[in-house]
Amino acid sequence: MEQIVNKSLLNATCDANDDAIAVINPATEQVVAYIPSISSSEILKLVEKSKQAQKLWQQKTAAERSKVLETWYQLMMDNADDLARIMTLEQGKPLAESKGEVNYGASFLKWFAEEGKRTYGEVIPEPASSKRIMTIRQPVGVAAAITPWNFPIAMITRKAAPALAAGCSFMVKPANQTPLSAYATAELAYQAGLPRDLLIVVNNHSSVAVGDIFCTHDDIKKLSFTGSTEVGRHLIKQSAETIKRTSMELGGNAPFIVFDDANIDDAVEGAIASKFRNAGQTCVCANRFYVQDAVYDEFVEKFTQAVAKLKVGDGLEEGVTIGPLVDSRAKESVMGYISTAIEQGAKVAMGGQGLDGLFVEPTVLTDVTQDMDIVQTELFGPVAPIVRFSDDQELVEKANDTIYGLASYFYTGSIPRAFHIAEQLEYGMVGINEGLISTEVAPFGGVKQSGFGREGAKQGIDEYLNIKYMCFGGL
Ligand code: NAP
Repeated sequence: MEQIVNKSLLNATCDANDDAIAVINPATEQVVAYIPSISSSEILKLVEKSKQAQKLWQQKTAAERSKVLETWYQLMMDNADDLARIMTLEQGKPLAESKGEVNYGASFLKWFAEEGKRTYGEVIPEPASSKRIMTIRQPVGVAAAITPWNFPIAMITRKAAPALAAGCSFMVKPANQTPLSAYATAELAYQAGLPRDLLIVVNNHSSVAVGDIFCTHDDIKKLSFTGSTEVGRHLIKQSAETIKRTSMELGGNAPFIVFDDANIDDAVEGAIASKFRNAGQTCVCANRFYVQDAVYDEFVEKFTQAVAKLKVGDGLEEGVTIGPLVDSRAKESVMGYISTAIEQGAKVAMGGQGLDGLFVEPTVLTDVTQDMDIVQTELFGPVAPIVRFSDDQELVEKANDTIYGLASYFYTGSIPRAFHIAEQLEYGMVGINEGLISTEVAPFGGVKQSGFGREGAKQGIDEYLNIKYMCFGGL
């Protein structure tokens, strides 16, 4: 932490004590900092503060709110190097990727600073001459969020920016493994002029304790969750008691398809970007590859050569492209998927071994079939299982044969095929001849058990607004 220039970004850290939460660097498995665990009774007091702050915030004009978000954006840009370093220290991703995430995370502040000014209502043609009908859109109130460790800044700003732009207050529980990025980002919001009670970050040793309050408190009007499908399912059930509005960004099992008319070099480039970013720990990561007969050998050869160039190591080191996995449980899980796939008949074309610490070799598995466990589950590691296919229709069925529906990708040189396949894939997002699809301007989200609701784009702010219909009579 000595290398952080702007020490105010570490304001939320505390000394080691029995109740503090230790933040571990996955590259070294050493403690980098401690943060306080905030008790349930304290969180309940913070909900009340958030509620009071929201009442004042919603009275500001959209332009006033926009100005704070713009300043926050600028401060994130000015502190991008420090934020990236903090992220790599607690999360492990290579520094260049951390910088990319800081830029991506900040882009939501700039985007929603503008979108907040466009939360238009409507005037609706009246059904009777004595009436006039109009709608306005109002903030839902206190919004809460629970976010994961794999994108410790972007998963927060993608929710906080539309919430604050809409006139809501915002409370967030980041993952206990990566809280430092969240507190540092919030610190910059305060420096930008955002009252502290409008953006409250909390952690507790028990995420269940925080989840209980966020899901069941009547003054929290909205819960936005990004994380696993399993936890999302549980939070939906818990939120039912207060009929809370929820949005869910959950797990994925993205197919990456290469058709026989694709440009194979482009497909390999897209596959590397999609599969190995964040060491494969991304909800939109290519999880399973389908390659058509005629180009199977060529793709496997070129892809394996490209994978061989990846450099595993501490994300702070120059040239490293694959960092560690987040913890030992993640490593055990990935190594388990590899060994089960081999037992079930897959061949190792590259890698396959665990390395010292929390590192895993980038791995390519061939001769994989649809029934193998590795195809059916969200892998969350630097492992690419490749399935061979021949027929387009059979391919679509295999690609859709999952409970998930977040991202999907395919490469083809044919425009008709591009339309037919894109329309048939049961996914919220489709990359066509493109391996990187995340951007603040497009609606991010899934179907099926990958969740509901959209983040970013013009739709992202809808999640934090209620529509009120006003009927004027007696005219
Ligand atoms: P996770 O285990 O579901 O945890 C996500 C967050 O929920 C963390 O803050 C965690 O806290 C908290 N949490 C866990 N159990 C909870 C409970 N019972 N009550 C309240 N909060 C609880 O997921 P993860 O392993 O961190 O993240 C990986 C998953 O997120 C993958 O499935 C990935 O696909 C998904 N993801 C989805 C998107 C998307 O946009 N669709 C984006 C990124 C990630 P603690 O960790 O502090 O315990």
